[in-house]
Amino acid sequence: MNVLVVNCGSSSIKYSLFAMGEGGSADVLASGIVERIGEAGSRIRHEAAHATDVRDVTAPDHQTAFALVVEALTRGPAAAISELARIDAVGHRCVHGAERFAESALVDEEVIGAIEACVPLAPLHNPPNLIGIRAAMALMPDVPHVGVFDTAFHQTIRPHAFLYAIPYDLYTEHGIRRYGFHGTSHRYVSQVAAAMLDRPPAETNLITAHLGNGCSITAVRGGASVDTSLGMTPLEGLVMGTRSGDIDPAVIFHLMRTLGMNVDQVDDLLNRRSGLLGLSGVSNDMREVIRAAEAGSRRARLAIEIFCYRLKKYIGAYTAVLGRVDALVFTGGIGENSADIRGRTCAGLQRLGYVLDADRNAAAHGSRDVAAAESPIRILVIPTDEEAMIARDTARIATGGA
Ligand code: ADP
Repeated sequence: MNVLVVNCGSSSIKYSLFAMGEGGSADVLASGIVERIGEAGSRIRHEAAHATDVRDVTAPDHQTAFALVVEALTRGPAAAISELARIDAVGHRCVHGAERFAESALVDEEVIGAIEACVPLAPLHNPPNLIGIRAAMALMPDVPHVGVFDTAFHQTIRPHAFLYAIPYDLYTEHGIRRYGFHGTSHRYVSQVAAAMLDRPPAETNLITAHLGNGCSITAVRGGASVDTSLGMTPLEGLVMGTRSGDIDPAVIFHLMRTLGMNVDQVDDLLNRRSGLLGLSGVSNDMREVIRAAEAGSRRARLAIEIFCYRLKKYIGAYTAVLGRVDALVFTGGIGENSADIRGRTCAGLQRLGYVLDADRNAAAHGSRDVAAAESPIRILVIPTDEEAMIARDTARIATGGA
């Protein structure tokens, strides 16, 4: 069975075509991205095992962009399948499913309506997700389409952890609460971690840190999310590439009253000009921040210190939440690749049970245990694979699985 996984943004479509095998195996046949949809200079970059095809294209809208994806998949130098009919199901990454979706769902008109109803909570993300779903359904009307939600894994979080201490009616009438994001990644690494520990997921307690451009950390008890750092929107919690993470909300009033900023300016400041970028003045990209710190930039050093300090605080908090932790998991571009960030974060956590092995931490790639032999808690590095997770959910639901 071939599953196309689609991640549709406001001006881009990322896609991967998977061949699903026995026992949940998911092999990538091809992947790519159409960028600058609806703008000048649209491009497609398409990669299959044997060839890469990069071309300037005309993509005034997502419908046209999808047709280009299908063309790249079925024709030309990097074709992966002979015809469109070889795609058996389509999985769509959806950002916000609010309280409606605790699981991935077969897309029908009712589900589309429910995703639309979540637009006020994710005005930047859900509209392009919907455009992608409609465009793909128009091109492939006869195959099942499945929505996989970033928020779904966190629907097991209970009210004491998801409610903000503001008037309760704001939750019941307007849905203001913590939802959490990156759920597909946290779910994926939780499953891999349980397998690495050789324990049933239902008996495994984990802290999973997804550190990419966006960052979040989740407390997982018995395979279920019980708390997570991203909130009603993906702004709360850890320091991120351009997002501030936790901040005293009164700073916002101050910015507006004293500095005369309006709401859009504050939104832009906290979402796009803060985090590593705002602190370092160098970049939102951790590799560049590390390079600048090594070259002597004081602000870059400070940005790294604040990033790791905030992460350490959350690890401490979630250790308290869980009581017993079997493993701390690092994933995402930073978590998977930076021994330095893992080292700084775990420094001083030995008494809590987190003891890194310096050599293992510095060594190579792939899923691995970087804790010292005597560490009471394992420290795992696990490359995330959200696309494969979406493909598996899609295959299961498309073939009638629960
Ligand atoms: P996204 O969240 O967009 O999927 P990634 O998970 O690829 O992003 O993470 C991107 C981040 O990972 C960037 O900040 C990048 O600098 C960082 N990163 C990648 N490799 C390394 C490395 N070797 N050391 C430090 N940071 C790295």
